[in-house]
Amino acid sequence: MGEWFETIADVEATPEDADHLGAEVLSWLVEQGIVVAEPTECILGNHGHRPGPNYAAATVEPWDDLHELATNGFRVVTGQSVFYSMGVDQVICPHCNAAVVDGQDQDSWSDFTPVIDEWYMGGAGVRACRHCGKPVGLNEWGWSPPWGFGYLGFEFWNWPMLAPGFVAAVSNRLGHRTVQPCGKL
Ligand SMILES: [Zn+2]
Repeated sequence: MGEWFETIADVEATPEDADHLGAEVLSWLVEQGIVVAEPTECILGNHGHRPGPNYAAATVEPWDDLHELATNGFRVVTGQSVFYSMGVDQVICPHCNAAVVDGQDQDSWSDFTPVIDEWYMGGAGVRACRHCGKPVGLNEWGWSPPWGFGYLGFEFWNWPMLAPGFVAAVSNRLGHRTVQPCGKL
């Protein structure tokens, strides 16, 4: 059985903000009973926070078995990260709405690799749209499924789908735009 993850990725937090914002959201989640305070080994050999007594409040359709799973943790990720989904179906230009990556067109997806590398090295990660020519930053493209490039993310392992209202509440606390990559390992 595969392990499913869902991430709330903050695409606006700066490297300086990430640690204290991450800690703030964690303590809010503990306070709400969404996750437990003590970290234990619950994410594929890594430490995380298991679901709390009130975790259902964060999900659309909770299931009773979540507490029984070996992998069911929540984890705050800080530091420069690509918050990825499994694969890329489409990448849409925010200016002209053209799809610069579509379906099986692997060539155009690999065009992003140097841009992501450049961003990792401290660059802006901006690339011109090959249809309209306008410069577009990594987080400005319409990624489908969602991808995020940033310094702060919140991973949920094997949780039922997160409720939109819960995700909005996390975004509001952060004061930032978030995206929700997901996938299965
Ligand atoms: Zn364009």
